[in-house]
Amino acid sequence: MTPMKPLFLEDAYLSTAEAEVAGIREDGGIVLDQTCFYATSGGQPGDTGFLERESGDKIVIAGTVTGETKAEIIHIPAPDQAVPEIGEKLVMHIDWDRRYKLMQMHTACHLLSVICPYPITGASVSETDSRVDFDMSDTIDKAEVTTRLMELVNANHPIFIRWIAEADLDANPTLIKSKNVRPPRGQGQIRLVCIGEDSSIDSQPCGGTHVGETAEVGEIHIGKIEKKGKENRRFRILFRPGACLTGSPQRCSSVPVDRSFYTFLTPGA
Ligand SMILES: [Zn+2]
Repeated sequence: MTPMKPLFLEDAYLSTAEAEVAGIREDGGIVLDQTCFYATSGGQPGDTGFLERESGDKIVIAGTVTGETKAEIIHIPAPDQAVPEIGEKLVMHIDWDRRYKLMQMHTACHLLSVICPYPITGASVSETDSRVDFDMSDTIDKAEVTTRLMELVNANHPIFIRWIAEADLDANPTLIKSKNVRPPRGQGQIRLVCIGEDSSIDSQPCGGTHVGETAEVGEIHIGKIEKKGKENRRFRILFRPGACLTGSPQRCSSVPVDRSFYTFLTPGA
């Protein structure tokens, strides 16, 4: 089987694309030859959506995860879905409304790490908010952080991907902001997410999906800064109430569904 192509690594805005069924797992998980579905990793939940068959029938996808290795991406069908044939051609459709919010919130985490240059001990992203834990003991004013976040948003800095050799990362170890997690090694290349012209604002290894310009993050604010132990602060980033652009009002104000802990900045963890 040729390796599955993760299309989202090169184009986070690809909401639909064609694919061929490469395998069906014993647990019913669907493996495709390529995918625009992001698989749960690095604090970002996997995509939901559907696979459209030639007949027009839909196979609803309830989630996307990685398999035994990070290179394997498994599309988990919702209960009682039809099972496609191996070799069958399908059109993938991700729930773009949900994914875009995840991209906004994920990007907001990067912006926060620019303002708070402390080691990151954990993070997770949901459609409604995101949280980042920092190894820090300083007290910091949340209104001040919100102001600085919105300065970065309003400046509309470009966000782009750059691949560097592992050796280049070894030569610049300060690029890694995560305290406990290291980017996956062994593939020769590390994916850097860069913010600002010539990465002037930030660059750090990350395998997630991000918006293309900081203004797309929209109006956000720091909801809470919690003290989690003597040297740990948990920041919660929220969309400004009423600033939710799409989706139902309930979805914008509800408590995030995904509370599970994932490590941040870890395309391979
Ligand atoms: Zn990222």
